[in-house]
Amino acid sequence: MPHALRTTVIGSYPFPAWLEFATGHMEAFGVDDVAEMVEDAVAVAVKDQADAGLDAISDGEQTRLDFNLSFYGFLEGLAPEGASRRRFGPPGHDQRGKHAVIGDLLAPRGLGTVEDFRRLQRLAPAGVGLKASVPGPYTLSGRLVPGGHYPDRWAVAEALMPIVRAELEALVAAGCRDVCVDEPSMSCYAHREDPRRFVTLFNDTVEGVRGRTRLSTHLCFGNFKARAVAPRSYAPLFPAFLDAHVDELHVEMASREFAELEVIEGIAERMDVAVGIIDVKSYYIETPEDVAARVRRCLAFARPERLAFAPDCGLSQTARWAAKRKLATMVEGVRRVREELALP
Ligand SMILES: [Zn+2]
Repeated sequence: MPHALRTTVIGSYPFPAWLEFATGHMEAFGVDDVAEMVEDAVAVAVKDQADAGLDAISDGEQTRLDFNLSFYGFLEGLAPEGASRRRFGPPGHDQRGKHAVIGDLLAPRGLGTVEDFRRLQRLAPAGVGLKASVPGPYTLSGRLVPGGHYPDRWAVAEALMPIVRAELEALVAAGCRDVCVDEPSMSCYAHREDPRRFVTLFNDTVEGVRGRTRLSTHLCFGNFKARAVAPRSYAPLFPAFLDAHVDELHVEMASREFAELEVIEGIAERMDVAVGIIDVKSYYIETPEDVAARVRRCLAFARPERLAFAPDCGLSQTARWAAKRKLATMVEGVRRVREELALP
């Protein structure tokens, strides 16, 4: 770990308004226009995160504008996205389209994260850690309807595993030293699936890069349209997930008012733990003193060298003005505790 009480992020960041408008009018733009748009959007996300003073930043996942640029746009073997089954009413996960699997699942061009990482390297200021995020195979399988010779979600996830594994190897070869393999679907569905099977799939996915980069995972309870989708308890995941081959495990705590905070004690005996200390679903802007108090609560369970702090999830579902203020107060609150403890 670079240093004690590190501040970091989970990959996504809100799109600037103009980028969101553009995503609804993609047909109006040429390939070079889109490339320029992406470059500008990443520069904005990088600046906001760097201004907040974070120890590690991401590209804000500003490239995922439409199907062609999403992870699914890189996969072969899919039919075009079916129409959403519910189009009106309050926003929810059931308004997100799924793609039917109709052939062999392949990604001959990779999943696009290497190009994203190189752009981030080019645009980020010196001295800040650069983090890349890749969805793990189980989470990636969540928006695919099993079909062809893949009878169920597990078969789809196992077919995606070597694709994600190759992507991780390419990222590390490109120089990425901080990679998060996001598996929120595992924390969402551990209550009804075998968590040991999740760990086996996870470890198979990361085996090729283990020890060659800082590996982390993000385990939350869902945040599409700022909605959760699962019983918000980590109990079903443990102790199985203590055997996950990661250097850092991230848990969502702020939106759950730090329920089960004691779970970080067991995690910190094996690996670093990144605590979600900012509620991305609430428009209450945490004060630096709120953050400092939360950090002190975590210190009752884990040594400072084992602790990192992040928002509960990516910030893409939080308005940008709030995301900026929340990151700034997170960094300031953590800084106050570093100062109290005379940490560098
Ligand atoms: Zn999340």
